[in-house]
Amino acid sequence: MAVSRTLAILGATGSVGTSTLDLVALHPERFDVTALTAATQVDALADAAIRTGAKLAVIDDETLLPRLRERLAGSNCRAATGRAALSEAATSADLVMAAIVGCAGLEPVMAALAAGRTVALANKESLVTAGAIMTDAATRCGATILPVDSEHNAIFQCLVGNRSQDVAKLVLTASGGPFRQKSLAEMRAMTPEQAVAHPNWSMGAKISVDSATMMNKGLELIEAHHLFALPPERIDILIHPQSVIHSMVEYVDGSVLAQLGSPDMRIPIAHALAWPERMATPAARLDLASIATLTFEQPDSERFPALRLARSALEEGGAAPTVLNAANEIAVAAFLARRIGFGDIAALVERALGAVGAPPPRSVADVLDIDREARDTVRQLMISLAA
Ligand code: NDP
Ligand code: MG
Repeated sequence: MAVSRTLAILGATGSVGTSTLDLVALHPERFDVTALTAATQVDALADAAIRTGAKLAVIDDETLLPRLRERLAGSNCRAATGRAALSEAATSADLVMAAIVGCAGLEPVMAALAAGRTVALANKESLVTAGAIMTDAATRCGATILPVDSEHNAIFQCLVGNRSQDVAKLVLTASGGPFRQKSLAEMRAMTPEQAVAHPNWSMGAKISVDSATMMNKGLELIEAHHLFALPPERIDILIHPQSVIHSMVEYVDGSVLAQLGSPDMRIPIAHALAWPERMATPAARLDLASIATLTFEQPDSERFPALRLARSALEEGGAAPTVLNAANEIAVAAFLARRIGFGDIAALVERALGAVGAPPPRSVADVLDIDREARDTVRQLMISLAA
């Protein structure tokens, strides 16, 4: 029987967060939940905190703290808000599920790494924006980063038992998103509802739009570079619409190892939560005979310029990935709020990359400064777009 581990869930009310909670409920003997966090979904946060017996619940929106206190009255769970409380949550357990969306997750992830924790990392934007600052902190502090993103989790599994110098390249698979077969002209007219309707995966709104623009795969390219220490030219992207092969590793002898499974985030989440063991999930078993056909295509960076922008930001290095990520976050939020069109997202990111000339970040504070500048730049660009 597995020994129980302490677990904190950052972003507990989101898509990854609730899948994590579902798995914890299936394996209560494995986890002792210490802390949960959310941005605004105060009732869902309080319910989950009571259900799991967490000792700390952190809400980002401070106006909701009285409501959280009221909901937790009589329980053993303390309600809190603010950066210090978020860091406290992030360091309260041996295992931290980092499932906040966006750069907002960076500081708590860094706090967990500084405390030498094991971080199950879903929050790819933190690694994209802070890159080597984050991986250096993990190495220095003896922390472990376990990839939860399905592609990176697949690669992590395909690397087990092999030497890193024997890896020839990584192949990140991509479903191609809901607009895989749309023309550029058709894509320009797409609404937020159409963009978030992913063919294979059920996810939060931001990553769903990122999948539609394919910026998600661009962010994942940068994520893979930092997690697996390979140069960009040795990380390929391959369209695979069925999302059955979650990614592959090619070795110097020509062998290719792949990880397969049904497209259900509970599989990579469970892998990270149970690592180095495994635990059962209710995910549908892979039935290859009924799927019958797996297909592959080259990605099209004409129709999906985000792929080209992310690759060049990674090659340029310095502040570029931070600018790319911040500009994308603002542009996606504006698209979801119907303030800009679908095609404007990549266009704004490209213009921000050209406009922000910051020096390479050396600390989290530098990253957050560049992040702010890029966000302001995109907001200004949107004002001129609207004029
Ligand atoms: P969701 O939008 O569903 O959930 C995000 C979570 O973060 C919620 O708990 C939300 O709280 C909280 N949150 C949002 N903004 C802030 C903030 N400013 N400060 C503190 N907490 C905040 O996102 P997903 O679960 O889809 O994605 C989470 C991360 O995992 C992302 O980085 C995404 O790229 C990555 N990922 C997700 C996958 C998926 O299948 N969903 C697959 C692979 C990676 P509230 O609910 O109160 O708003
Ligand atoms: Mg992914």
